[in-house]
Amino acid sequence: MVGHVDHGKTTLVSALSGVWTDTHSEELKRGISIRLGYADTTFRKCPTCPEPQCYTVAKKCEHCGEKTEEVRTVSFVDSPGHETLMATMLSGAAIMDGAILVIAANEECPQPQTKEHLMALNIIGIENIVIVQNKIDLVPKEKVIEHYHQIKEFVKGTVAENAPIIPISAQQNINIDVLIDAMNEMIPTPVQKIDKPAHMLIARSFDINKPGTPIDKIAGGVIGGTLTEGSLHSGDDLEIRPGRKVESENAIHWEPIYTNINMIAAGKDKVEEATPGGLLALGTGLDPSITKSDSLTGQVAGAPGTLPPTHDSFTLELKLLERVVGISDDEPIEIGKIKTSEPLMLNVGTATTVGIVTSAREDVAEAKLKRPVCAEPGSMVAISRRVGSRWRLIGVGVIKA
Ligand code: GDP
Ligand code: MG
Repeated sequence: MVGHVDHGKTTLVSALSGVWTDTHSEELKRGISIRLGYADTTFRKCPTCPEPQCYTVAKKCEHCGEKTEEVRTVSFVDSPGHETLMATMLSGAAIMDGAILVIAANEECPQPQTKEHLMALNIIGIENIVIVQNKIDLVPKEKVIEHYHQIKEFVKGTVAENAPIIPISAQQNINIDVLIDAMNEMIPTPVQKIDKPAHMLIARSFDINKPGTPIDKIAGGVIGGTLTEGSLHSGDDLEIRPGRKVESENAIHWEPIYTNINMIAAGKDKVEEATPGGLLALGTGLDPSITKSDSLTGQVAGAPGTLPPTHDSFTLELKLLERVVGISDDEPIEIGKIKTSEPLMLNVGTATTVGIVTSAREDVAEAKLKRPVCAEPGSMVAISRRVGSRWRLIGVGVIKA
């Protein structure tokens, strides 16, 4: 769920899932969902009503009252509201199969973050996009149509050029059925690579114990994220890379962490097996002090001995943008070449690190990383540069073998 602040992302996630208001779900699951910043929902279909009215998230059809059937389960990652958190949006992008770009109809299009997020989707190559024109309850029909044309003009020449534009009111629950239909069409469930070794990108990690929990009741550290391939089972051994920072004799190195899985929560349920698609949380045998406060965010977990290499530095093949987006249109800032010794913010998978450029040519740069990352050669890296007071996306790179 991406788009400008206040355009209705969180309201739409809630309209599609009800997760924030679902007071009946068990506390642990709810706690995990909220901390992950994600919401799971099951799209359902009424067996008798016509399309698209048949689509809903309710168990009973609101048109005819019949029991609805499950179609598919989807996890939504809500983008943070604050404009400086582009890094979080980019690390979320690593685990997205598609994106909903939310644009409020009561403001001129595009707003700065609308532009910046679309540019990010464009350059990262997320092609399955549905555009939502939200808050149509606030403007007359002619304005909605005018705004639709602004959106059309804005997306011309981007990945979202042919994306459907669905007018809705997230707050009034209008056209949510049409939106579900469009998401089913535009964002298909990807083919899952289950017979590979398990690799999970860690998006969050935490300590779920309340202060004062007696020692024999303390639960192990929890990690949340998504499996990119393979499957995991309760009881499986787990390796986490880069792992733990170890300082000895004035030298720093990182050692993989080994543990095992004692609980898997996927969506609303505890499960015995986890497969790719959707977000999941793993209870581990780790001391919760190792996982608390997102300390493992950006690391990779999986079957021991199968994880990609840990890089302290890497060489990137570059594809830079022409100018910085998301600042004022009046003074577009050209993106100059990458220079030796400049710091860059790099997003690799769910990891965010800073790299200092050690050598740079037109289309290749080498960077030494402040914090190592675990990634397969060939992986895509989002590159941001400090412009004024914040990091701005300037392009992407591919890690050379
Ligand atoms: P976010 O920053 O994109 O997550 O936006 P929020 O979901 O927090 O919504 C911002 C404000 O817009 C809140 O006050 C919502 O109640 C309101 N809002 C969201 N969707 C709609 C809508 O469809 N119609 C109206 N009238 N208000 C909406
Ligand atoms: Mg929000």
